[in-house]
Amino acid sequence: VRTAIIAGNWKMNLGPQQASRFVAEILPELGKIVQQHSHIMSILCPPAISLAAVHQVMQSVPTPGVELGAQNMYFEDKGAFTGEIAPGMVKELCSAVILGHSERRGYFHETDELVNKKVHAALHYDLLPIVCIGENTDQYESGETQAVIKAQVEQSLAGLNEEQAGKIVIAYEPIWAIGTGKAASATEAGHVIHLIRHIYAEIYGDTAAQAIRILYGGSVTSANIGEFIAHPDIDGGLIGGASIKSDFVEIVRKSA
Ligand code: 13P
Repeated sequence: VRTAIIAGNWKMNLGPQQASRFVAEILPELGKIVQQHSHIMSILCPPAISLAAVHQVMQSVPTPGVELGAQNMYFEDKGAFTGEIAPGMVKELCSAVILGHSERRGYFHETDELVNKKVHAALHYDLLPIVCIGENTDQYESGETQAVIKAQVEQSLAGLNEEQAGKIVIAYEPIWAIGTGKAASATEAGHVIHLIRHIYAEIYGDTAAQAIRILYGGSVTSANIGEFIAHPDIDGGLIGGASIKSDFVEIVRKSA
């Protein structure tokens, strides 16, 4: 049985001061839920500049099962890459990192090739990569979802060895469902996620495909998480808007 993951992608919200206040507020209850239910874990992903502040709060209220993640990183170890953060720096504070979010791909022109380099760097530093894939509205409407997903899985997750292949988290986030209040149905999301696992199995075999967690993301709230978590193919959620509100605790509660 795969441990479910509820991850919060705060996006560009909550600087260090607000972030520490928010985490101090939600952590006691969040910690209680994940400690009582060992089949679920939660990952908080604040903006890079708030990671240290959140890390400090998490140190003062130890809560196994609540982890810290970054929203992005560069793949090089160090050097002249102004504005970027290195995998080793992320590792000092975090255990996970979101890679290839559709906003990174769309606004900052990240390609599957770049995402793939970041995935390898994350694994090298023993960071859990949460690799985002998903089709846009046009692709969805013209029935290209399957082809788009296949190419993204093949290219973003290329070249893993057997051990690495079992250590990935994929987040299926259809772009038309992100921040729109128009979530995919659990049946629809489950269908694509089933397909993702099948594509993954063809590349890396059944054992790895059964080990990896595949999350759904896109307009998830405490009102609809129950349907997603109940679906046998869906291993949790990547939450945007609702992750910076107390609703996040409710989402985790309903997933437990
Ligand atoms: P929303 O939950 O705001 O739709 O965002 C989803 C997302 O992009 C998480 O990475």
